[in-house]
Amino acid sequence: MSMNSEGRPTTPNAVTTDEHKYESFSGHVGLRLAEPLIFEIGSKDRTGVDVEEVEGFVSNLGALERTGGTGCPGLAEPDVVRHYTRLSRRNYGIDMGVFPLGSCTMKHNPRLNEKMARLPGFGDIHPLQPQSTVQGALGLMEELSHWLMELTGMPAVALSPKAGAHGELCGIMAIRKALEARGDAREVILCPESAHGTNPATAAFCGYKVKSIPGKANGRVDIEALKAALDDTVAAVMVTNPNTCGLFEDEVREIADAIHAAGALFYCDGANFNAIVGKARPGDLGVDAMHINLHKTFSTPHGGGGPGSGPVVFSDRLKDHVPLPYVVKTADGLSFKEHLDGDNDPSFGRLVAFHGQMGMYVRALSYMLSHGVDGCRQASEDAVLNANYIKACLDDLMTVSFEGPCMHEVLFDDEFLKGTGVTTLDFAKAMIDEGYHPMTMYFPLVVHGAMLVEPTESESKYNLDQFIRSMRGLATAAKAGETNRFIGAPYFAPWKRLDETQAARNPVLRWSPEAEAAE
Ligand SMILES: *Cc1c(COP(=O)(O)O)cnc(C)c1O
Repeated sequence: MSMNSEGRPTTPNAVTTDEHKYESFSGHVGLRLAEPLIFEIGSKDRTGVDVEEVEGFVSNLGALERTGGTGCPGLAEPDVVRHYTRLSRRNYGIDMGVFPLGSCTMKHNPRLNEKMARLPGFGDIHPLQPQSTVQGALGLMEELSHWLMELTGMPAVALSPKAGAHGELCGIMAIRKALEARGDAREVILCPESAHGTNPATAAFCGYKVKSIPGKANGRVDIEALKAALDDTVAAVMVTNPNTCGLFEDEVREIADAIHAAGALFYCDGANFNAIVGKARPGDLGVDAMHINLHKTFSTPHGGGGPGSGPVVFSDRLKDHVPLPYVVKTADGLSFKEHLDGDNDPSFGRLVAFHGQMGMYVRALSYMLSHGVDGCRQASEDAVLNANYIKACLDDLMTVSFEGPCMHEVLFDDEFLKGTGVTTLDFAKAMIDEGYHPMTMYFPLVVHGAMLVEPTESESKYNLDQFIRSMRGLATAAKAGETNRFIGAPYFAPWKRLDETQAARNPVLRWSPEAEAAE
């Protein structure tokens, strides 16, 4: 494939298989249309609007006046519409098909919630508006806080963190503040081996030393190893539950008791709350702080459509240390508490510039109210049922890493590919040719060549069966020695195998005429 000077393939649409190679004259193949960069189709001396020069115009800008062009590409409206429509058709999303990315909960976002978030009273307000004019929005934040505390069985919540990782930061800062308040600064945070990378990163970012706790053969935290590591230097333990192997930590109460007996605090990574809403309350499990990814559990777009939102719930041990700002009731209605009450205020301070992601709050509350608690519980049950259905339909051909039923996601490893010459990466790329976004690969790190599949509750049996047929077909082909099907995959994607390390380490985020001219 030919590349341009910036390393982008220039013949994206050639379809190549073992038997067949088709390169069209136009660059388009069938109805799959090639699309160059907007700079390559636009021209700098063209303008999309045709406004006449104003006669006798005198600029007030003086020396600040622009002397050259803006460098923006000029295109007519239909060209712009086509450009972005073509690009959007290159994108795979949950509205296109099954998106089995484990640990991410890529689920359907009901359109109702989108509509609610666009109501002018929520969508068009400004964070600096007088609080008396946004009482409804503050009321919504209060109601959402109520339901988050109700569903988790926890007495306090900070709504403002803007993603799961930011919620972790919020929780660990509250823990640090609580320990400092009792004159017991500690320096270590324990994380299980299977932890999401954000857990140790958060601990290190807050200045703690991170120690890793091994897992057991059944995919859960090794509680004996945890107990052995707990001493008076340990500030907190971060445990994900359900964990990243898709399993419920069935000794979670004992884990919590051991943590508290050592004078430490229990941070729970609640990114997988989607599996247990309405079934189990983290407050009953002994958790002290837990973030909830609204964008994984309570609809709201995820990824490119973002932004995320990661409210944190707190136990009695931490409830005085929640960050500002938060909504309080006063004689004049609702208002934000935005300032500390002097140096002795137990709150650890302000976490965000404004108040968090209002649009996400609206979507989450709309999701909760339209489902009701029975609907939320059923969503969790169906997510777990769907994952177990996939597991049961594939476990004769693929290797399930841990025995017994799983929660909302099922973990496979690459044992079944041994001796085939096909790797987890090849298998994932072949899924693209089958029309699926690959599952999560090589995470968690506790099994070899991990494949973490999460169907979510919103996939029908029809969709699951089609997905299972593809996975069975691929596993059978790999075992039958059809290696070519995998090693060059994806054969039918607009871009083939990219150098993902280069793309991550040296991303080319800017088009420059010089680089283009040098080509
Ligand atoms: C998604 C996820 C996170 C991080 O959440 P973001 O909103 O992406 O910052 C943390 N832990 C686990 C287990 C997750 O799945």
